[in-house]
Amino acid sequence: MSRPYTPSTRLLRAGRPQSGWVNTPVSRGSSYIFKDVAAWRETRARRDTERMLSYGARGTDSSYALEDALVELEGGYRAKLFPTGQAAIAVILSAYLQSGDHVLITDAVYAPVRRFCARQLARMGITHEFYHADGHDIASRITPATKLIYVESPGSLVYEMVDLPAIAKLAHEHGCLVVVDNTWGTGMLYHPLELGADVSVIAATKYLGGHADVMLGAVVTTQAAWQPLEEAAVDFGQTVGADDAWLTLRGIRSLKVRLAAHEKSALDVARWLLTQDGVARVHCPALPDHPAHALWCRDCSGTNGLLTVEFVAGVDAAAAERFVNALKLFGLGASWGGFESLVIPVDMHSARTVADWSGSGAMVRLHVGLESPEDLIDDLCVGLQALKG
Ligand SMILES: *Cc1c(COP(=O)(O)O)cnc(C)c1O
Repeated sequence: MSRPYTPSTRLLRAGRPQSGWVNTPVSRGSSYIFKDVAAWRETRARRDTERMLSYGARGTDSSYALEDALVELEGGYRAKLFPTGQAAIAVILSAYLQSGDHVLITDAVYAPVRRFCARQLARMGITHEFYHADGHDIASRITPATKLIYVESPGSLVYEMVDLPAIAKLAHEHGCLVVVDNTWGTGMLYHPLELGADVSVIAATKYLGGHADVMLGAVVTTQAAWQPLEEAAVDFGQTVGADDAWLTLRGIRSLKVRLAAHEKSALDVARWLLTQDGVARVHCPALPDHPAHALWCRDCSGTNGLLTVEFVAGVDAAAAERFVNALKLFGLGASWGGFESLVIPVDMHSARTVADWSGSGAMVRLHVGLESPEDLIDDLCVGLQALKG
């Protein structure tokens, strides 16, 4: 048979031993013993550009297995692992930027990245500027000092999208690198490297781990973009433990079926919410009234468990808090992508500095987990009662 395996089958085969154990066993290690000085010297000469076992911080069989699965998911040349998604983003920005450079950041960025720019990039003499989350003003904000365009598409909280192929073309004409936070698309729903980006980063803490029990960041780059990232990761001493790599790889094996279940339940819950008094809008790019719906149809292969509910104008922040406090199945907490449902209040006025959200109603973000949707809807019913006071 000459037809290649489909991506989901390849994903189940990636990062596994050639024979014997189905899965790569956990290999914890720091010291690695060489057979003689020649072997030691040769490894040290080659390990900056090739993947070779040499020291625990540079990788183990467990981290290599996860890296192989990530390259299978995202395409691209090689993958690098970090202790958190935030650490991965911090190293990316430090790797590709230097004093005097200017970086354009999406207004839809994950909030801790805003703080990294304001506190850490500023100290390094790197200036940053936010662009509208739909990307329409990027061209007008590029200067000769602009070296990197940082995208998050769909973006945090309300899932704005950019026309990534168009932005990648524009960026490359100006000699800028394109970095995409692909945590929402999680390697399966959106493929930034295929759409023209140079670097894709995923908070594997979310759907790749998938069980709310591991922290990890994953970066995949094109071959041209690889070396600065590799060097910065080594220089900043970034590494992950073998157990965390193994847990994440274990999560990836069921990613496709979990995402399909999250998507189905989220859409059931969204359609129900839209029929309820007190709900003005449900933000989700898979819904036809979302501003990015056409881009989502073109570039994404599905949606996940995230929905942001906007209440009608009469509902104030205190009422939205009563809603959150009344929920039992939706735990109040950060992060998402685990098997369980979560809720968190959203303040769009502080989450965006370019777009004006002052006219919007009170909002909460839901992560629709793998519980039965009818149980989740019953829980949300109780929440909506509490909202009305
Ligand atoms: C959670 C998240 C991160 C950070 O991941 P951590 O592993 O929690 O540091 C980065 N980007 C996005 C879009 C996220 O949702």
